[in-house]
Amino acid sequence: MEQTYRGRFAPSPSGELHFGSLLAAMASYADARAHNGQWLLRIDDIDQARVVPDSAEHIIRTLEQLGFEWDESIYYQSRHIRDYRKALDILHKKNLTYPCFCSRKQIKNRSSNGIYPGTCRPNNQADKTTGDKECAIRIKVPDKALSFKDQIQGDYTQQLAQEVGDFIIYRRDKVFTYQLSIVVDEYLSHITHIVRGHDLLDSTPRQIYLQQQLGFPTLVYAHIPLAVTPQQLKLSKLSRARKVRCDLPTLVQAAHFLGQEIAPAHNYQSLQDFWQHLFDIWQLKRVPKMEKIEIMY
Ligand code: GLU
Repeated sequence: MEQTYRGRFAPSPSGELHFGSLLAAMASYADARAHNGQWLLRIDDIDQARVVPDSAEHIIRTLEQLGFEWDESIYYQSRHIRDYRKALDILHKKNLTYPCFCSRKQIKNRSSNGIYPGTCRPNNQADKTTGDKECAIRIKVPDKALSFKDQIQGDYTQQLAQEVGDFIIYRRDKVFTYQLSIVVDEYLSHITHIVRGHDLLDSTPRQIYLQQQLGFPTLVYAHIPLAVTPQQLKLSKLSRARKVRCDLPTLVQAAHFLGQEIAPAHNYQSLQDFWQHLFDIWQLKRVPKMEKIEIMY
């Protein structure tokens, strides 16, 4: 039996919904609906220090005003700390984790390329800095290539040991990292397909590796090009990235950016009319196989 399609959009509540996040929302929504699948909304609010007050509510309201309709209730990461801890315990029992006491400065001094040199790895004879100060927890990565086929960008391979190194899954300020938390979230929500921005392509092998170690299924991935300013700035990095306008021309502009052959805004009677048309014509293979695309902003 064909597996049911379950997609999601997972904004971090660190500001208003801008055009860059609208693209990820639209691509994941349209791909899910074009497959008669479900589409869920998750608020990635695990890093409470970075949460901008009221931004989750703003994002939710903006999505509603743009005509998005999600299934089930909204998932908040901050309500799942116990689940992340369980995952950490599993990795710990498998002897895959170790505490790391290194400061950023020490790592910089010990590594020529910025990759963590494994100083605190058990059995490493290097001069370790230990003590009773706070530590992060890293996961050991194997010295072999990890590959997957991205539905838009094609084959992608990463040598985790050389390109990433043992990475942090629990920070010294006691926050579970993005990599670990979202792997648990996707599993708990039975997500099958991920459509998101190209900036997360190189995180995917880490997430697949964690899925493998936790015994979770591997998902299907598609990474859309990033919208950048003529100065090559990612919109989310702009201190004043403008909130999207909640109107048909904005939706039509986003669909064009995603390579879809959509009619001009005046052809649609309503937002619902636009969405239905987009679901009918949506083809992931039309999304440009590019890392980024400039937009006038
Ligand atoms: N919350 C992440 C962000 O806003 C996205 C997570 C994801 O799609 O994997 O960048």
